[in-house]
Amino acid sequence: MSKSGILFIISGPSGAGKGTIRGKVMEKEIGLTFSVSATTRAPRPGEIDGLHYHFKTKEEFTKMIENNEFIEYVAKFQNYYGTPKAQVESLLKEGKDVLLEIETIGARNVRKMFPDAVMIFVTPSSFEELERRLLYRGTESEKVRNLRLKIAKKEYKSMKRYDYIAINDDLDQCVNLVCSIIRAERAKRFRNLDIVEHFNQI
Ligand code: 5GP
Repeated sequence: MSKSGILFIISGPSGAGKGTIRGKVMEKEIGLTFSVSATTRAPRPGEIDGLHYHFKTKEEFTKMIENNEFIEYVAKFQNYYGTPKAQVESLLKEGKDVLLEIETIGARNVRKMFPDAVMIFVTPSSFEELERRLLYRGTESEKVRNLRLKIAKKEYKSMKRYDYIAINDDLDQCVNLVCSIIRAERAKRFRNLDIVEHFNQI
């Protein structure tokens, strides 16, 4: 049987730097495909449809839910976010590794379906630093920012379900750490039983 790809999940509160880390990890790691989520939220400056998200209207998103097109979806921050099913499943089946950047409830649901998924939680080393970064980013109104901080506190309660904690105080170090996690996971014996078997035969 050909081996299936590895599903990597990056989560972490708003402002943790997940998006930046994901982008840099994608540049550095070959053989990894980023799964572009669908969302009803409006694009931020510089965000490109189909690259950062598939931007959908509420009606389009609802239709996708009805057609069972998502592995998981959540209503969060007054918007919907969902992981499209078709691409992820076919990539994994082809043996290609896939990276999801999703929040903690979605991650939990994905893990139920893909127990071997590797879950990485990204965070700065303190809550004060997270607050500072969200303020500095300045992409949200004060109301939305406060909502995101409130939700962040809940997300930290899910940290215990993650396989790895990646502290993002220094961006380059954090990117290197996440790349190391990916490489180590690829080298795990249980993911390379074909090679073990090959050498058992000699
Ligand atoms: P943002 O609006 O800042 O791009 O994303 C808000 C949150 O939604 C982030 O924590 C992000 O990881 C998460 N998110 C993005 N896409 C998905 C998805 O497809 N499913 C789930 N569950 N969360 C997502």
